[in-house]
Amino acid sequence: MLKVILQLLIALTALKSTISFAQQSNTLTIEEKIEFSKNTQFPFDRYFCANNNDNCTLGGMKKNQIALTFDDGPNSNTLQILKILKQYRIKATFFVTLGKRNYTREKQDLLNQIYSLGHKVANHGANHGALAGSVSESSLIQYLSETDNIISNYVERNDIFLYRNPGGYWNSNRANILNSNNNLRRYVGPIFWNVGGFIVGSSTHLTDAADWQCQSRKLSAQDCMTGYYNKIIRNYKNNQGSLVLMHDVHKITASLLSSLLENLSQDSINWEFILVQDIPAVQFYNTEL
Ligand SMILES: [Zn+2]
Repeated sequence: MLKVILQLLIALTALKSTISFAQQSNTLTIEEKIEFSKNTQFPFDRYFCANNNDNCTLGGMKKNQIALTFDDGPNSNTLQILKILKQYRIKATFFVTLGKRNYTREKQDLLNQIYSLGHKVANHGANHGALAGSVSESSLIQYLSETDNIISNYVERNDIFLYRNPGGYWNSNRANILNSNNNLRRYVGPIFWNVGGFIVGSSTHLTDAADWQCQSRKLSAQDCMTGYYNKIIRNYKNNQGSLVLMHDVHKITASLLSSLLENLSQDSINWEFILVQDIPAVQFYNTEL
C-alpha cells in the first residue's frame, strides 16, 4: 500500500510543471508598508516601479514571480496571445485602449474572450496619443472615464481597478486631477513595469527588449525574447520579481511570448505567474482608499 502511495506521489511530482499560476498573494512587511506610503498621493501617484529602473521595488513580489501585462489592444492579434496563455495556463492583465470612438462589435467580442478566459481587464485610456503627452484636465478625465464605462462591467467585485498611463507618462498634477475625481479615484495607478520598456544592449546580447521596438527594427521574435528573458533573470538575481510589458496588438508579440514561456519553462527556477492585482503593494494601496 505504502509503495502505491509513494509511486503516486512520484508521478504527481513529475507532472508538476516549473511554470505555475499562483492566486495566493504575499504580504507586505510593516517596513515595506511604511516605505510605500511615503510621498504618495493616494490612490494615484504610486511610483512603486519605474521604467527600466533596476532599483525599482515591485512591492513585495517574490523574485520568482512574474506578472504579464498586455497593452493597447485588443485587436485581432490578441487571439493568438490568448491561445498561448491558455496553453500555459497563465492569467494576465490586459490594459485596454477602448473608448466611444473605437468600441466596435469586434472589440467587444475580444474583450468578452479576454474576460471569459479569466484574465483581468484594466484601463489604458481611450486616447493613447493624447494621454502620452500633456492633456487638459477635462480630457484626462474624459479619456479615462470612457474606458472605465466599458471595462467596469468586466471588473469583478473583488478585483482592483488598475490604470496604466500610455507611454508611462506621469506627473503629480495628473495624480491630483484623478484623485479629485469621485469615480476615478477608485483606481490604483499608474502601473509601471520593469521588463519590456526599451531595447537595451547590442543586437547580439540584449539585456532588455520591447516588442514594438523589435518589430520596427525587424528583429526576430527569438532575438527579442532574449532581451526579455535576460532582464527577468537579472531581476531574479537582484531579488526582484518581474512586471512584464508587452503589447497584444503587435504581430511579433505572440511568437515572442511563446518562446519566452518555452524558455522559462525549461529553467530550473520555479517561476510563478501572478496578476498585477495580486502584487502586495497594489493590494496595500487599494485598501488605503
Ligand atoms: Zn500603450
